[in-house]
Amino acid sequence: MTVLMKRKISLVCPFYNEEQGVRVFFNRINEALAPLTERYEVEVIAINDGSLDQTYEELIKAKADNDYLTIVDLSRNFGKEAAISAGLDYATGDAIIPIDSDLQHPPEVVLELIEKWEEGAEVVLAKRVDRETDRLVQKFTANYFYKLHNRISNIDIPADVGDFRLMDRKVVEALKNLPENSRFMKGLFAWVGFRTTTVDYKVAPREHGATSFNTWKLWNFAIEGITSFSTAPLRVWTYLGCAVSVAAFVYAAYLFITALFFGVDTPGYSSIMITVLFASGVQLIGIGVLGEYVGRIFAESKKRPVYIVREVIK
Ligand code: UDP
Ligand code: MG
Repeated sequence: MTVLMKRKISLVCPFYNEEQGVRVFFNRINEALAPLTERYEVEVIAINDGSLDQTYEELIKAKADNDYLTIVDLSRNFGKEAAISAGLDYATGDAIIPIDSDLQHPPEVVLELIEKWEEGAEVVLAKRVDRETDRLVQKFTANYFYKLHNRISNIDIPADVGDFRLMDRKVVEALKNLPENSRFMKGLFAWVGFRTTTVDYKVAPREHGATSFNTWKLWNFAIEGITSFSTAPLRVWTYLGCAVSVAAFVYAAYLFITALFFGVDTPGYSSIMITVLFASGVQLIGIGVLGEYVGRIFAESKKRPVYIVREVIK
């Protein structure tokens, strides 16, 4: 007799200071995924990313009611990217879906993701169709970030898709094999490839608490994304350096010839000052960009783990 095994769906949910949201989250998940339980086994991997509030206690309470829950408690806050990496490592499903725990990613969309997966897609992206919940700067910069990123790096990140997506086990295994320490997940997800389709959804406003990504953090996140996947910012200096050198050579020739035929015209304070300031400014920017990359080589070379687990509660 052959027993038909149910296929397994893993939800990977990072929690950082979400104490008010835990109960609501599991209520919504249970409601939304009820139609699934007949055909699939469902597990939820909740990563407590070093929350400073009662999130851990709330998760333990939720565990009592929801047997499908696995809690991965990290030793401190490692950031969302690391938390998701941890979740992917502990997930055992045939399809794995990272989803925000603040309910900004509507759990109902999961059903659509699974449908597309059943139709043969290995990656199903959830694409946000509006940016209503974003701050104004964010709306503006997000657009330019994707444009710039995709122009200068070797991989294309699809615009308006985040971590909310379904991945087949194959895809997750490929991701787990990537050795790098800096986990710019959007980029890594795109880098591994696989057969991909898209589903549209509307981002919900946050139910409780506040976002942990302010504008400065997002800026750094964008730099991380670009430096992780492109060396164009480094190469640009070669060309800029050449252009400045050529200009300097032409100007030098001009000065030499005028001095030879018309004598030396002593005053030159402004032109010297401008040249010196311009050249040193350009050099400092160049060194700064170099520093960004050297810093990342430094971080990678230490080969520290991406996260540390305090305990896993199954
Ligand atoms: N998060 C996390 N670690 C962090 C910051 C955030 O695990 O250091 C989680 C957070 O609990 C939420 C998700 O990542 O489930 C998205 O975070 P947030 O809502 O703050 O970001 P936004 O939706 O504003 O981009
Ligand atoms: Mg959010």
